[in-house]
Amino acid sequence: MKGNIYVIAGPSGVGKGTVLKRVFQLDDNLSLSISATTRSPRVGEIDGVNYYFVTRERFDQIVAEDGFLEYAEYVGNRYGTPLKPVLDKAAEGFDVILEIEVQGCMQVMDKLPEAKGIFILPPSIEALEKRLRGRESEPDDVIRKRLDTAKIELGHVNKFDYFVVNDTIENAANQIVNIIKSNR
Ligand code: 5GP
Repeated sequence: MKGNIYVIAGPSGVGKGTVLKRVFQLDDNLSLSISATTRSPRVGEIDGVNYYFVTRERFDQIVAEDGFLEYAEYVGNRYGTPLKPVLDKAAEGFDVILEIEVQGCMQVMDKLPEAKGIFILPPSIEALEKRLRGRESEPDDVIRKRLDTAKIELGHVNKFDYFVVNDTIENAANQIVNIIKSNR
């Protein structure tokens, strides 16, 4: 296997998506894993691009066939990483990035000890709260739930290999690129 496998997690609202978008602009030897999910597509999401949108039956079938590297339940839906594309892309020499939640990261790090975990941290809980509140007009109880989940997720940081603080997108993206390059 030539490429490395990275699991990247961080609490809701930390800006993972934006940082990773920048990482992919800065480094062209990366492959983003496309997950399967039982949740419905959001407006603008495309099957096979953002996710493979599957029924629960199909999801269970893939589980039974050992087709997932990992899978987890998140807010009532199931999400899983198809195993074969990850191994194929790594064999081709790409570093493969999995942007998944914390439980899934743990499963990957258990199954593939050579996989590396990167956890993206907010500059502070206050900053995270501010970002969650500023992002959309979400009701207070939803923001509270996201913050509670964030605090639980932050409790798992010690299991990750690297921590990156998202103070600015550019800084965080550069740090991730440096980590990836240092392991090549
Ligand atoms: P969303 O529904 O907002 O797209 O994703 C919800 C959460 O599921 C996010 O934290 C995202 O990182 C995570 N997720 C997406 N794909 C996977 C996957 O294949 N496995 C796991 N464990 N989590 C995933």
